Amino acid sequence: MARISDLIAAGRTYSFEFFPPQSQAAQMSLGRAIAELSPLAPSFVSVTYGAGGSTRERTREVVTWVRKETDITPMAHLTCQGHRRSEIKEILDNYADAGVENILALGGDVPLDGEVQPSDYTFASDLLDDVLADGRFSVGVAAHPELHPRSPDRATDRRYLADKLGRSDFAITQFFFEVDVYVRMVDELRALGVDKPVLPGIMPVTNKSQILRMAAMSGAAFPEWLAQRLEAFEDPEDIRRVGVQAATELGQALLDAGAPGLHFYTLNRSTATREIYANLGLPVEQ
Ligand code: FAD
Repeated sequence: MARISDLIAAGRTYSFEFFPPQSQAAQMSLGRAIAELSPLAPSFVSVTYGAGGSTRERTREVVTWVRKETDITPMAHLTCQGHRRSEIKEILDNYADAGVENILALGGDVPLDGEVQPSDYTFASDLLDDVLADGRFSVGVAAHPELHPRSPDRATDRRYLADKLGRSDFAITQFFFEVDVYVRMVDELRALGVDKPVLPGIMPVTNKSQILRMAAMSGAAFPEWLAQRLEAFEDPEDIRRVGVQAATELGQALLDAGAPGLHFYTLNRSTATREIYANLGLPVEQ
């Protein structure tokens, strides 16, 4: 097991993101995805956290399961929405007791149908303060290359991001489709005096309507050239193939641009990630 700050310092990291399953069937599908992705020897895997409260306990279960039952380093996502300081302390104690060493400190989005609960925190940076003060974790934060949807302007977004990233170990980005938006963000952070590692998040298009919905929610621009490449196809297998090809090209461009690793949004499936891995010529354990 390891701290992600040490893993990044040792070389490029390749990591996978999962969400906690909500049913028995989803649990089996996640188990299968993790088993199928294990030969890719991920540097770490991360598990999302439901800011609305519905899946919080499941995040802990999946993270501690990965820690105890596999050789893979886990990272727990944690959001400040709806949390009291005492609850955060308890969650951090539980993770530290279970040997979990990595936390992604996030603002969090309460789902539209979710319950808003009282919170001692407003922004991710408030939660970051407490996780840093705890001192037992390597801590990452979220970055939004195409700006966070609630940011009033670019300069404000980058100023708050530079502040929280400057105090943490690394950032992971929201997904995006063009290398230039990543390079520009890294340059803007450098201009503000912050050169901490920023791991780009890659989300291959495997389902047209799903990715358009997710892009609209996250503020990621869906480029015209990609829409046109997909337009010619209706068959889900063709769309997946085009999506994997586009994600491979993006991954290669990011590595060529000097990215310190790649973080794959797997949506709890393994096929697209395995294909991109193979296309990029990344090593697979036999
Ligand atoms: P913040 O850093 O708090 O930023 C939110 C907004 O507030 C931004 O516009 C920022 O500029 C602004 N801001 C920050 N500080 C200040 C300040 N001091 N004063 C005024 N404005 C300020 N969501 C989940 O619910 N669960 C997850 O597991 C999850 N995982 C994610 C993983 C990654 C890699 C990413 C990129 C996002 C993830 N999200 C997750 C989504 C994320 O929680 C949302 O995008 C959320 O709206 C913002 O999170 P943040 O950590 O960027 O928040």
